[in-house]
Amino acid sequence: MIAVNHASHALLPLLKQYFGYTSFRPLQEEIIRDSLAGRDTFALLPTGGGKSLCFQLPALVRPGLTVVISPLIALMKDQVDAMQASGVSATFLNSSLAAGESRPRLRGLDNGEYKLLYVAPERLLLPDFLDGLKRWNVSLFAIDEAHCISEWGHDFRPEYRQISTLREVFPGVPFMALTATATERVRADIVKQLLLREPHQYVASFNRPNLIYRVSPKANDVKAQVLRFVRARPKESGIVYCQRRKDTESLAARLQEDGVCALPYHAGLDAAVRARNQEMFLRDEVRVICATIAFGMGINKPNVRYVVHAGLPKNVEGYYQETGRAGRDGLPGECLLFFSEKDFDQQYFFIKKKPDPQELQVALDQLYQMVDYAESADCRRAELLRYFDEELPHDNCGGCDNCLSTRETFEGTRETFDGTIAAQKLLSCVYRIRQKSGFGVGASHLAEVLTGAYTVKIRRWGHESLSTYGIGKKRSRAEWVAFAHELVRLGYLRKGAEKFATLEVTPEGRAALAARRSIQLTRPESAQTAQKRAQESAQTAQKRALNAQDRAQERSQERALTARPRVGEIECDEALFEKLRRLCKELADDRGVPSYVIFGDVSMRHMARDYPTSTAEFAAIHGVDKYKLNEFGGVFIEIIKEFLLVNPHRSFI
Ligand code: ADP
Ligand code: ZN
Repeated sequence: MIAVNHASHALLPLLKQYFGYTSFRPLQEEIIRDSLAGRDTFALLPTGGGKSLCFQLPALVRPGLTVVISPLIALMKDQVDAMQASGVSATFLNSSLAAGESRPRLRGLDNGEYKLLYVAPERLLLPDFLDGLKRWNVSLFAIDEAHCISEWGHDFRPEYRQISTLREVFPGVPFMALTATATERVRADIVKQLLLREPHQYVASFNRPNLIYRVSPKANDVKAQVLRFVRARPKESGIVYCQRRKDTESLAARLQEDGVCALPYHAGLDAAVRARNQEMFLRDEVRVICATIAFGMGINKPNVRYVVHAGLPKNVEGYYQETGRAGRDGLPGECLLFFSEKDFDQQYFFIKKKPDPQELQVALDQLYQMVDYAESADCRRAELLRYFDEELPHDNCGGCDNCLSTRETFEGTRETFDGTIAAQKLLSCVYRIRQKSGFGVGASHLAEVLTGAYTVKIRRWGHESLSTYGIGKKRSRAEWVAFAHELVRLGYLRKGAEKFATLEVTPEGRAALAARRSIQLTRPESAQTAQKRAQESAQTAQKRALNAQDRAQERSQERALTARPRVGEIECDEALFEKLRRLCKELADDRGVPSYVIFGDVSMRHMARDYPTSTAEFAAIHGVDKYKLNEFGGVFIEIIKEFLLVNPHRSFI
């Protein structure tokens, strides 16, 4: 392949013309330029980072065919639909097509009608297909979800190993490997297995500023807690991850009973049911998908507004990837983990059964890291990023429960109380432990000492002989952990010098101890209160026929949640936005595609903010490309004009 001099290409006009965007996301432009220059590239971008565009844009610029290798047959149609909705000729070939459907596509490929072809890896080495590739003037092989090639990753697909054969057959065609999986080992393995030639490795920040992270105590009836969360977000769609298959089904049933459109998804479901449930979610027919971790890879629904974990994930990497599915469009997204010690115990119990000692150790380490995250008093974002060896440049991210005001939970505000005695007990316990052992411990162990637990660690370190052992029995472990977090925020405690998360008393803390200074603490929401509240809400939910009062309450709850501007938020005329959303859904249904293939929420929020009523104004809207302007501009402008006629005084801002 000749390295055509596209490096000087003016890419921005093309970005607007084909995708409707006016600026690149971080690293997109660099990756595209490198690829246009004919080099192998390796793109490690987080979910929502805009990987697809990295090969789609070059595909349009360069002559020839871009072949996209993707493991997910179910999603190829979606990607192709999205390209076609922007007027780009793209197609896919996989086992879901009948012979009669493949034939015209193969003919089209022979005639050079397509810019992009999506295929599953197993097809690559079929002799007929290889012959086809030789005829089709391939200009780039883009390997999506490239971590599937690595045994060290979590989605290893043996078929991916065959991809390297393409290197021998097509030595002149550049490769582009794309993934959101960040571990160093997997990264190195991808480069090696794909035989990439001195690829420039582009690694974007893994910070997702538009996502808010929270951890909440898990009650026995976590379904009621989830229900409460979902009800407070009546228009938004989300994913709820459950530990076991049967939980996904019972949770979906519980949500349905309350009138929430929800469906389960897990690997044990019949393939057709699974595909249908996923499709309904993508098409906004179903608001909530209750799933095991089998759901998600490659789901490119951009408007997932929340990801809730009803059970403890096995490791931080998995948690990060799963939460990453929220807010791909850049609008605010919420990530909530319901955590209980019981979940930890359960997983611990299962892990302990592993016969291979090395595997056992890895699994345990990963679980402990996950628990550290759940119990951490530090910024959750910083904790997540640290896992990927990335440092957050500032202390307070302003987007996690530990950085946001202490009184704010996902359910609203909480009261405070005179916590002097509790604080005294806690601070002196931290002090005594360090004095006795010479090292610090984390909030979780501290809470065990205060509540007089008799754990292996306590015995090993002799902490049962401390004067503070068991002096906090009246409170739960979760409460002590919450107090510890709060005392960190108040400056009485801080992280110790140890490598892992430990606590130490600050000089201010020591002064407060000595002077018995009065300290206000937030009344913690214990698991029991959480459960009681959730039960109450579930009961009222059953009784209610969504009367006016309920609606008002829901609205005020919603307002409380959104009182502060959130990263990525686009304020707009909500009434118009709803109208546009409905129109978009109708247009999408007519074409048998998900709404976002036509316009994403970001585009429609811009429309409902700027009220474009002329073609020129409409063309300037985010996400409006040339093709969509012609195809949909008219109907959208009409609705906006109509809206302005009926609501002449409605103007945003
Ligand atoms: P990834 O595969 O990395 O998770 P996608 O390719 O699915 O991400 O892109 C996520 C979303 O971001 C899509 O809705 C896409 O249209 C949008 N997007 C991609 N690039 C840009 C850009 N430069 N400006 C605005 N939106 C973008
Ligand atoms: Zn934070």
